[in-house]
Amino acid sequence: MQLGLIGYYSDFVVYPLVIALLGVAGLIEAGEESAPDWIGTALVCLGLWTLIEYVLHRFVLHHIPWIKDLHDRHHVEERSPVGTPTWLSLGVHALVALPVWLMSGFAAASAVACGLMLGYLWYISVHHMIHHWHPSHPSYLYTLKRRHAVHHHVDDTANFGVTSIFWDRVFGTARL
Ligand SMILES: [Zn+2]
Ligand SMILES: [Zn+2]
Repeated sequence: MQLGLIGYYSDFVVYPLVIALLGVAGLIEAGEESAPDWIGTALVCLGLWTLIEYVLHRFVLHHIPWIKDLHDRHHVEERSPVGTPTWLSLGVHALVALPVWLMSGFAAASAVACGLMLGYLWYISVHHMIHHWHPSHPSYLYTLKRRHAVHHHVDDTANFGVTSIFWDRVFGTARL
């Protein structure tokens, strides 16, 4: 969606706060003995985010009507504040965590939510930086910026991963 500047930047304030609060509450609930399991679950979900990011970009942002139009606009006006409102992305995270909460309790649900939200925050931060910053060559960010520029301007059927090249390699859509 077309967002105002406050709407665009609110993710970068709200997500760190929610992750920190939920992380503390979840670790207290898990207790000292289960803390390593909690951290392990969060890290697995952080890794899982990279696959979710790839699938959402490839199959949702490029194919679902209306969403595709907004994403096409981002491909052209790459610096204008088009994105997902914070309330909507937070709502989706809550919907994903709710069944885990009902089945396995708050500690497990908070670990899943924290891992996925950390991945999402990493993704929106990297995506912001590669469109607005000028990273030095060579660096992680420079490589991502160049690969994402190929996706934007050369071949929009390649390089769907924004934070990593891994899933593009796995599914044969990597283009250097
Ligand atoms: Zn982009
Ligand atoms: Zn795209």
